[in-house]
Amino acid sequence: MDSTRAPHRTGHLADGREILYYDDPSSGLRPEPPPDRRDPSSAPAPAELRRDPLVDEWVIVATHRQARTFLPPTSDCPLCPSHGDVLTEIPASDYDVVVFENRFPSLPAAAPGEAPAGRCEVICYSSDHDASFATLSDERLGTIAGALAERSEALRADPGVASVFCFENRGEQIGVTLHHPHGQIYAYPFIPPRAERMLAASAAHAERSGSCLACDLLADELADGRRIVAARGTAVAYVPSAARWPYEIHVVPRRHVRDLASLDGAERDELVRLQADALYRLDGLFEAPVPYIAGWLQAPAHEAGDLHLRMQIVSPQRDVGRLKYLAGSEAAMGAFINDVLPEDAADRLRNASPRPAG
Ligand SMILES: [Zn+2]
Ligand SMILES: [Zn+2]
Repeated sequence: MDSTRAPHRTGHLADGREILYYDDPSSGLRPEPPPDRRDPSSAPAPAELRRDPLVDEWVIVATHRQARTFLPPTSDCPLCPSHGDVLTEIPASDYDVVVFENRFPSLPAAAPGEAPAGRCEVICYSSDHDASFATLSDERLGTIAGALAERSEALRADPGVASVFCFENRGEQIGVTLHHPHGQIYAYPFIPPRAERMLAASAAHAERSGSCLACDLLADELADGRRIVAARGTAVAYVPSAARWPYEIHVVPRRHVRDLASLDGAERDELVRLQADALYRLDGLFEAPVPYIAGWLQAPAHEAGDLHLRMQIVSPQRDVGRLKYLAGSEAAMGAFINDVLPEDAADRLRNASPRPAG
């Protein structure tokens, strides 16, 4: 295994959930974290998958999530390190990056011989409650990207896992329940509908032209130039011509790779820095933290189709103080209406202040 990606410490929380610590190179190896001193929490009722026959898609029913911690005060944040008698999800008194199994998973855990199972993990980006992804150090971004690559690879190895999705939701406006900077890793036991559509479009294009759809689209975007936000040595950020959201930015590696684990360390670093740069520019446009969803679309597990790795950032912020909501056409029919011209969005983002290096 790539030594820059492997967790530095692994352990278990009081209720048996796994926890993995990843340290920045400059931190050296942090001391062995203490054991979780909390009483084991009772396992929540498992989530359930139901097949909607009307559209032939899976729906996840997870009623226990109603009991999730909801916007706690900073002093009760479950993602801050433990200190004194305040015992959180992370027993260590400090950490760089930590991954653990979600206490309130959206996917049912493995049960032998039963319906498909998955796994939900939380990744904390920093022990600093007030940090944000876009302003983390280059070194930390690399540690996060390495951890996501390692987790994606480990989860994909499970024969029951069909697709791994790493993402961050930010902003109360889109339903975030914890402000501490963190992302999530979903190992789905099925291929989610949007990934299925992308795989089908990609396979049809390959059949017609013999080449990768995403590679061809990227070449077209670079030749056209109007929607490019920033282009680096091995990675490019652009606004897709048919963006669904007021601000939508895709960050892709120039090289055709299926997933985060297929990148070398330097490529992964450049890609994740460009992601942070795109998010920094987005905040800069509105001079405030903008709500967003940032997710890595990776090819499915077990070679079930090919897909070019893509970071997709979408924000419902359409103007200062104004959000786009999914209403009739989008929510009921899946047909998006975008109020912002993608070329204008790209122009604004291109001219916004870039993220300072470091
Ligand atoms: Zn916190
Ligand atoms: Zn490609």
